[in-house]
Amino acid sequence: MIGAGIVGTACACWLARDGHAVTLVDRQAPGTATSFGNAGAISPGSIEPLGTPGMLWQVPGWLLDPLGPLTVRWRHALRLAPFLTGLVRASSPARVARIAAELATYLPDALKAYEPLLAESRLGHLVRRDGMLWVFDSDAAFAKGQASIALRRRYGVPVENVTGDAMRQMEPALAPDLRHAVFLPDVGRVVDPAGLVTGLAQHLQRRGGQVMRAAVHEVTFGSDGPDAIVTDRGTLPADAIIVAAGAWSSTLARRLGSVVPLETERGYHVTIPDPKVAPRRMIQPHGQGFLATPMTMGLRVAGTVELASLEAAPDWRRAEVLLAKARRLFPGIDTANATRWMGHRPSLPDSKPVIGRSPMHKNVFYAFGHGHLGLTGAAATGRHIGDLVAGRPTAIDLKPFAIDRF
Ligand SMILES: Cc1cc2nc3c(=O)[nH]c(=O)nc-3n(C[C@H](O)[C@H](O)[C@H](O)COP(=O)(O)OP(=O)(O)OC[C@H]3O[C@@H](n4cnc5c(N)ncnc54)[C@H](O)[C@@H]3O)c2cc1C
Repeated sequence: MIGAGIVGTACACWLARDGHAVTLVDRQAPGTATSFGNAGAISPGSIEPLGTPGMLWQVPGWLLDPLGPLTVRWRHALRLAPFLTGLVRASSPARVARIAAELATYLPDALKAYEPLLAESRLGHLVRRDGMLWVFDSDAAFAKGQASIALRRRYGVPVENVTGDAMRQMEPALAPDLRHAVFLPDVGRVVDPAGLVTGLAQHLQRRGGQVMRAAVHEVTFGSDGPDAIVTDRGTLPADAIIVAAGAWSSTLARRLGSVVPLETERGYHVTIPDPKVAPRRMIQPHGQGFLATPMTMGLRVAGTVELASLEAAPDWRRAEVLLAKARRLFPGIDTANATRWMGHRPSLPDSKPVIGRSPMHKNVFYAFGHGHLGLTGAAATGRHIGDLVAGRPTAIDLKPFAIDRF
């Protein structure tokens, strides 16, 4: 298993349940890359892809707004071109409807797929099931949000109307000028995303799995296909290889014969240790590209999309933007001593992960590209990978998630 983020670690746990001897290989400690700093939402109803017709119209305005949810570092435009053209192509009404239908086969089980792992590892206390409140600061924002609400309802995702008074009772710390809200009761909240990965990796070790700190550079091929991975700490023979290396997966996939338009959608967070306000659940100002999540270490405000590269230095002004947004959302907030972080969402233009067997090698499997939904989808992906490796039928048709769909 290459990659000890939430996706690789969840896959490893599912494989260990089947009795496989699993080695989880990562150049960093488990859960210290992208899975360290996400917003903590396990959101089974997030079937709407990133690219929609409505989104495309808003892009020019976002790019001109320094507080906007999207920035592009144009120096990287040439390299970003395959992702951006793919994103535009995936944004037509027909494609959006199809992608939503495909995600609606995969995401609804997201929380359920965590249940056995949380129970066995005794990590259930890290996941709360208290839903998410979407808030809207104007009638126009509420009108724009109706398409997202309608799409969810079409697939049976519960979305409850909340009056202004009820919103303030639910969340007294919110700004008084917010005009509308809806409640999504099915969203789970991870109160320590890094702790969840660390805990699952420890659980894997207790079950006899190995966690190895090494950078994977190469794959070697025997007469029957790939037979080992080459790391900076030696060669590791493998009966099966699973690539779950997040935003870094495309180099390994190319080595194994598959080319994918994987890009990093960089995102930021600020975590405020003593915010002096106490939201009770996740709050997302809809359409603004960030959410606020109460966690064990404080209030985390996370989001925004920055298109640049894996190597470009963080632009910490993006974290300042999040602090400014937090002050607007919660007028009483104290943002002193906030810590800041940047991470790499592993994103594909059609907002669907790659989950499946390699079309070239029967003992190679892919589990990457979960974009904005890696924490959400990790356990479900792990279950499917477990079924594939065991040769069992998968619970859903994985064709829409195949690596050769591009
Ligand atoms: C600001 C922000 C907020 C987010 N909020 C949410 C949210 O609320 N809900 C949600 O579901 N998702 C959210 N996400 C997305 C989610 O965090 C990611 O989709 C998820 O963490 C990806 O997990 P991963 O295991 O694929 O990748 P990672 O966590 O990045 O792990 C990949 C691992 O592979 C290792 N690796 C790579 N190449 C090699 C190599 N050659 N050799 C050895 N090791 C290698 C890396 O070191 C790394 O540890 C958010 C993301 C961001 C940035």
